[in-house]
Amino acid sequence: MTVSHILGYPRIGAQRELKKVTEAYWKGDVSREVLEAEGQALRCANWQTQQDAGLDFVSVGDFAFYDQVLNVSVMLGAVPARFNAQQEVSKGNVDLDTAFRMARGRAPSGTPVAACEMTKYFDTNYHYLVPELHKGQVFTLASDRLFHEVDEALQAGFTPKVTLIGPLTWLWLGKAKGSEFDRLSLLDSVLDVYSEILSRLATQGIEWVQLDEPALVQDLPLAWQQAFERAYHRLQSAPLKLLVATYFGALGDNLSLATRLPVAGLHIDAVRAPAQVESVIDRLSPHQVLSVGLVDGRNIWRADLAALRERLLPVKVRLGQRLWLAPSCSLLHVPVDLAQETELDSELAGWLAFARQKLDEVVTLAKLIDNRATPIDELRVSEATRALDARRASARIHQPAVSRRLAAITAKDSQRQSSYAHRSVAQRRALALPLFPTTTIGSFPQTSDIRAARRAFKAGELSQADYETRMREEIAYVVERQEVLGLDVPVHGEAERNDMVEYFGEQLAGFAFTRFGWVQSYGSRCVKPPIIFGDVTRPVPMTVRWSEYAQSLTDKPMKGMLTGPVTILQWSFVRDDQPRATTCRQIALALRDEVVDLEKAGIQVIQIDEPALREGLPLRQHEWQAYLDWAVESFQLSAAGVADSTQIHTHMCYSEFNDIIGAIAALDADVITIETSRSNMELLDAFQDFAYPNEIGPGVYDIHTPNIPDVAWMVALMEKGLEKIPAERLWVNPDCGLKTRGWAEVEPALANMVEAAKQLRQRYA
Ligand code: GLN
Ligand code: ZN
Repeated sequence: MTVSHILGYPRIGAQRELKKVTEAYWKGDVSREVLEAEGQALRCANWQTQQDAGLDFVSVGDFAFYDQVLNVSVMLGAVPARFNAQQEVSKGNVDLDTAFRMARGRAPSGTPVAACEMTKYFDTNYHYLVPELHKGQVFTLASDRLFHEVDEALQAGFTPKVTLIGPLTWLWLGKAKGSEFDRLSLLDSVLDVYSEILSRLATQGIEWVQLDEPALVQDLPLAWQQAFERAYHRLQSAPLKLLVATYFGALGDNLSLATRLPVAGLHIDAVRAPAQVESVIDRLSPHQVLSVGLVDGRNIWRADLAALRERLLPVKVRLGQRLWLAPSCSLLHVPVDLAQETELDSELAGWLAFARQKLDEVVTLAKLIDNRATPIDELRVSEATRALDARRASARIHQPAVSRRLAAITAKDSQRQSSYAHRSVAQRRALALPLFPTTTIGSFPQTSDIRAARRAFKAGELSQADYETRMREEIAYVVERQEVLGLDVPVHGEAERNDMVEYFGEQLAGFAFTRFGWVQSYGSRCVKPPIIFGDVTRPVPMTVRWSEYAQSLTDKPMKGMLTGPVTILQWSFVRDDQPRATTCRQIALALRDEVVDLEKAGIQVIQIDEPALREGLPLRQHEWQAYLDWAVESFQLSAAGVADSTQIHTHMCYSEFNDIIGAIAALDADVITIETSRSNMELLDAFQDFAYPNEIGPGVYDIHTPNIPDVAWMVALMEKGLEKIPAERLWVNPDCGLKTRGWAEVEPALANMVEAAKQLRQRYA
């Protein structure tokens, strides 16, 4: 029989129960016992769901109160010294509050201290806590949580397969702290603990342990490839079976390495990398299991079961009993249960599958290829076929006008009329800005008042007209404050936006929104990505009336504010029936119309935010250029419809520009504002080395802290900037939007920023 399993299940709960209870615990509203009991209840419910669906194993080890990478760090005793947990580590029992302090800097017990860094897990929107590694670090088994969870599952009568981040991927995700050193020098000690973990699991009666090694789909240095071999040769003595799980892409040049590892099974991603199935089977040794992941764990589309059966039959012939089936990766990255979406129209709902539904898909597929399908399985197949045929033919998906417009794009459409050198002359004349112009990144404090008004509006308690009035009042206030502060290029403040992607998605055709489609982003934070299901168009202008109103209140050039095509794409569930590039160009054209309409309405400065440009980079470097080509083209398409005198800004808030500076320059935005304050302007080196030709606003005010930067500090930062970029091309601005800050911090900070600009003008005019 074909084994069906999953690599992991969402732990947040269908109603975000985990979020609610952990936040209540952090606030002190519920006790540790209540927290632990709710965690246990969620685990048990998830196992029950998996068993009921007919999976051969339930997944243990995918639960975490905060993050599964942090769980492994804690289990290895990799708790940085500042958390003062040496005793807990040596007793083999790191406290949950210590883990929370690593994650958030604080917990109900213990002294607040700087949290560990957080970053995105491969190319997902899930953030993990970066393991901190030190030269000569020694690891010890420092938590027995996992073993308790295994006992829990066993006692409840489930058949668990344990899942853990693998030793190499854990090290790969870690960061060397203190002096530079080779992380691989720590491998032996890490393996000591993994061996101990595996022996204990074996004693508990565990047969299979899944070790996640997605690092194998990235470009690995030779030393790391060799380390994989060494590590798994060592772990093979463990008295149980190991399944090495790879996902998010093709094994590529690591393919023969992965198939050579002395383990009982390998999982591969057959959604992102369908072509590798055959070549992996060719190289697999005759006793090894191959888990084929071909139900999409990264997206929400219903699987075409009939088509997958056809694809699988020859695989089954080759592998027989050695074939396992699974989603492509952990279901952590999709929402929990479609059955809750009672407000989605049934046509659209019929095209989707969330985590709960994907379990059924895997189980049914396994039965289909084993010829043991029940009438229910047959029904699932025919329903899927019917729904997907309907999807392909649906008038809601294909708008002929959109494909015609896309086909008619020429190279000219993505180029401004003149070069930056010419444009800057026209813009200087039109805008008459001083040297070192001041501006902000767009949002002003989203006060509880604003959020309450939006909630009331959405609940139908506030009329459309009253809501608009409320937002206009807010805009008027924000504009007036900026007048008083003396900002040269004011903004309207983005009060009307809940979220920078959702706001646009709600107004564009081709987007849908769920009510409960939450996906964990980090810790207790969940996001509800829009679903792009059809061709994208802009039925009516989205921001023009707000910007127009804001402009009417001031003589200064009001900056219009849009989210860029790549960021909208990146933070949504994207259709799987056309290339991402095509969807991105469609969004770009819709935004282009908005940009042109803003210009017509008298807006002379327009910012198109692209904070997600960099995170869209493929996991393999050789694929970067192709991505950057269409990403850059999409941005340009959205921006290039305006006259030379209209100034296009963009904003990015991440801290690595070196390797994509060519693409950043190719965007050809007149002004780019970036996050630099924490790096002491070092990020400008990339711009200097590249001889970046356009204007730059290196953020001088770190909006991520409540601290108010003083004038001298900001002047000094700008003077550092002046060593690298000439004064005529420098702007003065914060390093990101102000929506998470309060007015009490924002006003004095911006006042200081404006004063800093004045002093700079005096010195350098
Ligand atoms: N314009 C957005 C804001 O000011 C930009 C947010 C971002 O960079 N993530 O909030
Ligand atoms: Zn930002």
